[in-house]
Amino acid sequence: MQSGIVDSYDPREWAKSWELRQSQAHGNGPRPSPMLALGLAAAILTTGALTAWMFHEAPSAAPVRATTAATPAKQTGPGEVRRTLVISRATDLPQLLTAQGIDPALSQQLAASALPALDPAGEVRAVLVLDTSSPKPRFVRLEASNADSSGVVVRRDPAGQITTARVVAQVSEKIFVQHGVMDGDSFYSSAVAVGIPNSLIPVFAKALAFDFDFQREVAAGDAFETAYTQKVNASGEAVGAPTLLYASLTTASKSASVYRFVPPGAQEEWFDASGRSAVRSLMRTPIDGARITSKFGMRYHPTLHYNRLHKGVDFAAPIGTPIYAAADGTVTGATPTGCGGNMVVIQHDKGLQTRYFHASRYAEGLHAGQHVMQGQTVSYVGVTGTCTTGPHLHYETLVNGEHVDPLGIPTDNSGKVLAGPELLAFEAMRDRVDVGRAQQQQ
Ligand SMILES: [Zn+2]
Repeated sequence: MQSGIVDSYDPREWAKSWELRQSQAHGNGPRPSPMLALGLAAAILTTGALTAWMFHEAPSAAPVRATTAATPAKQTGPGEVRRTLVISRATDLPQLLTAQGIDPALSQQLAASALPALDPAGEVRAVLVLDTSSPKPRFVRLEASNADSSGVVVRRDPAGQITTARVVAQVSEKIFVQHGVMDGDSFYSSAVAVGIPNSLIPVFAKALAFDFDFQREVAAGDAFETAYTQKVNASGEAVGAPTLLYASLTTASKSASVYRFVPPGAQEEWFDASGRSAVRSLMRTPIDGARITSKFGMRYHPTLHYNRLHKGVDFAAPIGTPIYAAADGTVTGATPTGCGGNMVVIQHDKGLQTRYFHASRYAEGLHAGQHVMQGQTVSYVGVTGTCTTGPHLHYETLVNGEHVDPLGIPTDNSGKVLAGPELLAFEAMRDRVDVGRAQQQQ
């Protein structure tokens, strides 16, 4: 993985860095998910550079604490002291107990009783109650809790019998709303300035990627709004990652607002307030960061040397740049051709077919009959075939067998529209978000 690529969280900057990296060799990055594939987020995901960053934990509202911290002992009952300790890993519990003067064998026994209830990777808050009426402190009780306030109480009676009682999490979910205006610097700084968690910034860009070209259409002064949900524990501290529920952007020329909804058995998707999917039937371009070098129409062919109809659009890009399926469909051809080199043909619904030419190679395992998702990499830019002078993608779209201009195909009117029970569930979720927005706008 190339490091240092993402030095900004601004999708506009990602686009720039993507362009800068065009000269660099392209590795076999992870496949972008269909939803991510369009636009700029995908450019970064394809290299894998952002992937690790995206899965960083959201910044927690909890204060940063030392690996092991102890509060001053407090008196509880006669002869009892109560110590609160915080450990960064539950597996450190035996050493912690031993350090508090508990016999190592008993420490192991107590920890073994507590650990099944504790998050092995997360921070644990432990309240230790000891009887100090005799010279050697005697263990009475351990209350250990996870970040979400779930946990366990371990007791030991004077006869040495150990009992455990699980504690259920006390977590509630809150909706947070942020409004902001794009500064002249970056979308990232604009978003962070109003308190949008880092992890949600690329999600916001993704949610609106079908409506906006973040590189060309977003400018200083444009207004945005987000609503996200976050679980919080009994102390009001964030538990787990936030989830973006709503994204809205208003530029000088247009405005779009989308709500997150997960149809039963499906992946999360973004819908406008009426329940129409933000996903378009066809991606604007099946390749990121590429330059259009030849449009659809009559032209003098550079290698054939006569005027003929150019049946597609040419996108110049370095060898190895991923080529995406422009929409969900079935691969009906993945074969070399003479003039067009390595070709991929995908049949979509509504009589639509897309074709991709001159690839250096196919995506691993790509074969005729395979179902592909919108945004899935099907091949990589190359210079194969006799009808090309440099590395580019020649991209064609056909409707019922007739070539049409890929840039002229309407992309905005055939997304999924929710209906029936799905629409009702969506509306309930949308109304919940809108109530949260209205409350926090006062
Ligand atoms: Zn062409």
